[in-house]
Amino acid sequence: MKRVHNFNAGPAALPLSVLEQVRDELIDYNGQGLSVMEMSHRSDVFDKIIKDAERLTKEVMGIPDGYKVLFFQGGATLQFAAVPLNLAADGKNCDYINTGEWSTKAIDEAQKLGKSVRVIASSQDQTFSYIPTDFKINSDAAYLHVTSNNTIYGTQWKSFPKTGEVPLVVDMSSDINCCKLDMSQFDLVYAGAQKNMGPSGVTMVIIKEALLERSPANIPTMMSYKIIGKKDSLYNTPPTFGIYIIKLVLEWIQKNGGLEKLEAVNNKKADILYREIDRSGFYRGTVRKDSRSMMNVPFRLGSEELEKKFVAEAKAAEMIGLKGHRSVGGIRASIYNAVPLETVQALVDFMADFEKRNG
Ligand SMILES: *Cc1c(COP(=O)(O)O)cnc(C)c1O
Repeated sequence: MKRVHNFNAGPAALPLSVLEQVRDELIDYNGQGLSVMEMSHRSDVFDKIIKDAERLTKEVMGIPDGYKVLFFQGGATLQFAAVPLNLAADGKNCDYINTGEWSTKAIDEAQKLGKSVRVIASSQDQTFSYIPTDFKINSDAAYLHVTSNNTIYGTQWKSFPKTGEVPLVVDMSSDINCCKLDMSQFDLVYAGAQKNMGPSGVTMVIIKEALLERSPANIPTMMSYKIIGKKDSLYNTPPTFGIYIIKLVLEWIQKNGGLEKLEAVNNKKADILYREIDRSGFYRGTVRKDSRSMMNVPFRLGSEELEKKFVAEAKAAEMIGLKGHRSVGGIRASIYNAVPLETVQALVDFMADFEKRNG
């Protein structure tokens, strides 16, 4: 069996032990004589799986009472529309902080729906290379939306805006569960699973129960937080297999000491990689140091030609997914929860060697 060093941005690496468990349980889940893929979403067996996924999410993340954990399809991108549709009545202002391509898409989607959108801060002036700190919260906003980790540009919020009565909505697609957070500061969190949590096809929504009442009746059923909440994510057929894998990933986190432990490992991974980038000047980080992401690490080399060579030689050394996003170029290493320290160390060693041969 071959396993590469996987730096893909998404869909991304999953823990090997989770994949092994999926393999072992694939044909006969728990003595049921069938696969999770083949069973009814209304069966007792699946009911336990989805309930466990919700319970483990709350336990692992330390979510206080008064929140619901929901599962949607349509990716994080569907949530770009669902958030304004559910939370902003006509005439209400929707506030956003724009920190990159995903925030921009969220903003565009709200505008498309005819909402009154205000961008209260943006880092576009410097190619989204930092997290803005200079902004004022409008108390008349329906919500404030931020993107906690900017997958493409490699910036990450280290602490979140204090919004008072204004609901704080966070797209956590690429850093959910990367560290321990005070979840009570958020009113709605959503995340596509395929970066840090599971396979593509499932999006988790964590929502304060009080907010469910805001959903108007005249929006599509499959986007209504109120209806999907009332039906515990079982209004129609949910993405059953993906929910099962999320459950296994959460169990893996718990078995490995929880988010505190994971955060320490993630810090170490990011630390050795950024240290290598900063060491000699051969590599150049593109993000202001106080805004650097611990999940997506973009950097440049002296020329595009050298970057191409870097990616090709890395690939030959079984390190894949290092080419930067097509919109920004350069190199990007995504070092999500399931990417082991040894894989990051292998990249650091490769970088030092590549510099020796090309510096
Ligand atoms: C990948 C990503 C998205 C889009 O996710 P889909 O599930 O493909 O719709 C949105 N926001 C962020 C921060 C992402 O990283």
